[in-house]
Amino acid sequence: NNLAKRRHVDDPTCVFCGEQESISHLFFDCVVSKLTWNLISDILGITIGSDFESVGRWWISTNRHAAHDIVSTAILWTIWPYRNAICFQGKQWRNAQELWNGAIAPCRKWKILCREKCSLELEQFIRAMERRQSELLRIAWR
Ligand SMILES: [Zn+2]
Repeated sequence: NNLAKRRHVDDPTCVFCGEQESISHLFFDCVVSKLTWNLISDILGITIGSDFESVGRWWISTNRHAAHDIVSTAILWTIWPYRNAICFQGKQWRNAQELWNGAIAPCRKWKILCREKCSLELEQFIRAMERRQSELLRIAWR
């Protein structure tokens, strides 16, 4: 039942895969994060998501990458509350697709921050993310 699956507060393991959790594990090294970043790299056409530096490098480079930046921020922005909902609110971990869908929502919301060219580019990324949702279904244990 749900109560049996509720985590102990001192549980040091990753809510997604059960390995030892750390910040870098959660955001980058976990099998769930890795798969997510691999797909994102493919969609954006850049290599991103091996660590914070690989993401931050694009943020500080130039404005031309605004659409990339929104997508990568949305991934980071989604992982943390998703993990916390499982940790502290007894939410059930289902699969990486749910996390992925959670990241599409802020991308859509943040489109208003874009000028025309960025907005078109972001729309392409969002559509690609929607098309590739099913590739995340296979990551669904714990
Ligand atoms: Zn993990």
